[in-house]
Amino acid sequence: MSGDDFEIAGCKISIGERKRLEIPVASLFDYTAISIPVEVIRGIKKGPTMFVSAAIHGDEIIGVEILKRLLARKELKKVRGTLIVVPIVNPFGYNNNTRYLPDRRDLNRCFPGSEKGSLASRIAHTFMNEIIKKSDYGIDIHSGAIHRFNFPQVRLAFKDSIEMKMAKAFGAPVILNSPLRDGTLRQSASALGIKTILYETGEALRFDDYGINIGLHGILNVMREIDMLKTSEIDPPPLNVMTAKSSYWLRAPKSGSLRMLKKIGSFVQPGELVGVVSDPYGDREAQITSATPGVIICVATMPLVNRGNAIVHLATLEDMAMGEEVSESSLVLDKDIDIENEDWFVNKKS
Ligand SMILES: [Zn+2]
Repeated sequence: MSGDDFEIAGCKISIGERKRLEIPVASLFDYTAISIPVEVIRGIKKGPTMFVSAAIHGDEIIGVEILKRLLARKELKKVRGTLIVVPIVNPFGYNNNTRYLPDRRDLNRCFPGSEKGSLASRIAHTFMNEIIKKSDYGIDIHSGAIHRFNFPQVRLAFKDSIEMKMAKAFGAPVILNSPLRDGTLRQSASALGIKTILYETGEALRFDDYGINIGLHGILNVMREIDMLKTSEIDPPPLNVMTAKSSYWLRAPKSGSLRMLKKIGSFVQPGELVGVVSDPYGDREAQITSATPGVIICVATMPLVNRGNAIVHLATLEDMAMGEEVSESSLVLDKDIDIENEDWFVNKKS
């Protein structure tokens, strides 16, 4: 949608205008009104419409911080087309520090929703109609679940070449093939031809500057890729990017306390020891080893584990297609990450 008339929840936004609005979605038991906050930035020049959304899982708060920092960027004064920023899609979960809605449903399994359905279904329906259907592109931001830390990664279904271009432009260190799952925002958007990628980083209820900065610059990079921003403006270039067609979880071989031996973002070889689970005396240790070469893209941060718990998510290296000429040393993965230092933005090709 790129006509002169643009309207969300009955609020008109003119060309060249920047406006905040609220989409009413429901009320609490005491009749307190609950709404989804939205900021719309319409450029003077024509261009596509893109939504960026966060906290569809209410405890995945890192995206809210990314979007807050995005809204402060001066580049947004030069947007072509329309940027729709939705920092909190699930205000119920956000206020209660939980992934879910009060009816215990996962909002991101209830798309496209329906007008007359449950709370989750109605919120999904409203979000589809007011935001997604008015967009050409979208970026939805998530984090690991509680007690799980994700390495910054973009997820998409590899079959879509436009989404792949967006993912490569984003510049997160890993791009992971992630088949569309029923009920998700991404699946419903994709079914309508709205090109949507997902950015995953960090852990529920936590911030970290490493993932925040990659996310912030990733959105700006995608905006350049789809001609919403002029490419001549200076911003850190994307990191070298690895693409992985598949991934799998390593699970705890027994219950006990976990000691990780490899860091998030590390490369591992087949049979390499990744962590150990042991009893309180340390007498009996069970080893967790990788089955294939890969990169660690998520780790459990809770050291007490039950047998069968998912501990390490590995993007499989066998299936990886290295973008350009990327060597292990150029990926800045197997080193300590200094989250206070933004130098990692620079391509380490030397
Ligand atoms: Zn999520």
